Amino acid sequence: MSFIKANLENIKERITQAAKACGRSPEDIQLLAVSKTFPAEDVRTCFDSGQRAFGENYVQEGVAKIASLQDLRAEIKWHFIGPLQSNKSRDVAENFDWVHSIDRLKIAQRLNDQRPSNLPRLNVCIQVNISGESSKSGVQANDLIELCKHISELPNLLLRGLMSIPEPTDDVAQQRQAHHELRQLLEILKSSEELDQSKMQLDTLSMGMSSDIEAAIAEGSTMVRVGTAIFGKRTYL
Ligand SMILES: *Cc1c(COP(=O)(O)O)cnc(C)c1O
Repeated sequence: MSFIKANLENIKERITQAAKACGRSPEDIQLLAVSKTFPAEDVRTCFDSGQRAFGENYVQEGVAKIASLQDLRAEIKWHFIGPLQSNKSRDVAENFDWVHSIDRLKIAQRLNDQRPSNLPRLNVCIQVNISGESSKSGVQANDLIELCKHISELPNLLLRGLMSIPEPTDDVAQQRQAHHELRQLLEILKSSEELDQSKMQLDTLSMGMSSDIEAAIAEGSTMVRVGTAIFGKRTYL
């Protein structure tokens, strides 16, 4: 069995065990294989092992990989999960199925305007900077409803939920606290009367990475983003 296939089976087992431990169904947690820095051949190996959703962080690298795996395009969902600059938004709008890292209206507006009309709506999540997070990316919780309101009016985007990248820690209680906060924010959005729920589909909590999927699943994650535990250690960032 290949290294990638064995890792994939291992991570699926971790998801299953974590779901069972908190009384959730493993089918309610999607696995996003984060293939950034790894070559297209590794994605193909992972695909051949059954994986269908892949995440990329860098626009040029992602677009090149999507192009070189064009024969699999209809079967793969490609997720853009990295920081997004305005001048790269067109490539993302034209090539990806999901974007997890929306952090301002300007980017959402551009993706909406640049989404080709022959493609389905682009699924988007808003990246939230939850308390205690050192990184500057992501919106503040206070600005979330306002941004949701605007995004829900964009016809070529479909708002699916929230994403976060908490500060790495080995402390499981701290991991859970960060994930718990994101879940609470999604609950607030889902019950907000300021938002037109019929214009959104708030079913996604994109949280949990290789080292904290158990904590994320215990707190309600619906999509874990796993790179290292599937493809191995990255040699550059
Ligand atoms: C790289 C990356 C991941 C995967 O991280 P691992 O620790 O390798 O599993 C998940 N989410 C985002 C946004 C990333 O940039």
